[in-house]
Amino acid sequence: MKKAVRTLVSFLETNRGENDGRSEKEKKLLSEKAPKALLLTCPGSLPFLSADRSALYTVESLGAAVRGCEATLDHGVRRLELPLLIIVGHDGCGALDRAVKLSEGTDAEKAVYEAIAAGLDGHTRAGRKRVLSHIDGQVACALERYGDRVKAGKLVVVGLYLDEAGTLLLTNYNGLKGREALSYGLPEVNESFFLPS
Ligand SMILES: [Zn+2]
Repeated sequence: MKKAVRTLVSFLETNRGENDGRSEKEKKLLSEKAPKALLLTCPGSLPFLSADRSALYTVESLGAAVRGCEATLDHGVRRLELPLLIIVGHDGCGALDRAVKLSEGTDAEKAVYEAIAAGLDGHTRAGRKRVLSHIDGQVACALERYGDRVKAGKLVVVGLYLDEAGTLLLTNYNGLKGREALSYGLPEVNESFFLPS
């Protein structure tokens, strides 16, 4: 418990208004800044991502699963009308192992694991292929939920893979998959951002 209290105090100390290192001007700018995109990640990958957090509406969930985060995502997509939903799956995601093994957990955890397992292609049960299949499954889930906004041209849903070196690669764009299809469909995106086939 002492360790937990030390962690708590450290967190409180770094968030004291007067010594957080931000000037009044920076604080004003921050309060006026609106997010430009929704970022759905796994707690295991967020520390590795470089991003301007004030420009993002971030949602974290086990395995970056849509299941269990519907209310927060709905608010970002339908109320804030954010035009981009980014779903990041990462190399070595423990949530996928637990989903496939049907590990023990609370009913809420099991519901998420079942949803993850349902989105996986049954033939890709390990390694990078499984992560890619999972990303596709979650993008499909988001497209099903927000298809109306995607069809109206008001939302883009993308799947990104965070590899073992910490590089983000685009693997799914509104359901479009594969390097060839992506480079044909997205000529404005440099090919180096697509996963090599
Ligand atoms: Zn993970």
